[in-house]
Order: sequence, then C-alpha cells, then structure tokens
Amino acid sequence: MSGSEQAPAPNALTGRVAEQLPLCRGCRQFTRPGERECPFCGGDVAALASRHAHHLSIARAAARDLSARIAAGGKPVDDPRQVGTSEE
Ligand SMILES: [Zn+2]
Repeated sequence: MSGSEQAPAPNALTGRVAEQLPLCRGCRQFTRPGERECPFCGGDVAALASRHAHHLSIARAAARDLSARIAAGGKPVDDPRQVGTSEE
C-alpha cells in the first residue's frame, strides 16, 4: 500500500484532464476550487478538510499499530513503526 494519490486519468476521447473538485468533508459533496464555504452544508471547507486529514492520520496510525501487533503474533509492541514495515 503506497498511500499516494493517483493522478487523474485523461479523457480517452479528448485527452484533457478533468478539473479536480474539492470534496466537502462535512457533507461529501463536491465544491468549486477556491470555495471557502460549502454551498450544500455551509461548512468551512478548509477546516473540515484539515479535521478530516487529522482523523485520517489517526486511523492510519491505528492501522499501522494493528498490523505491527498482528506481525508480532499478538504480543505487545513498544514501537509499532519498528515492526512490519517491510511490505509495500
Ligand atoms: Zn458540505
């Protein structure tokens, strides 16, 4: 698992790449680039994205911890970053 974002694929007919629309993390609707307030839920798009990124980092850390514990056979792991990092 790389965790990197994939680049958008160009349209097969036109060769053009579709514009990336920011996703409102408050209501999961697409917004226009540069829009500060979501037109659907009224949320602060940047603040909601920041909060989502924070929660995602916590979830990813928990997943790494769980993977390390599984790799260690269920034994406690002092530092999960030291175990189970050889797979991609
Ligand atoms: Zn919204």
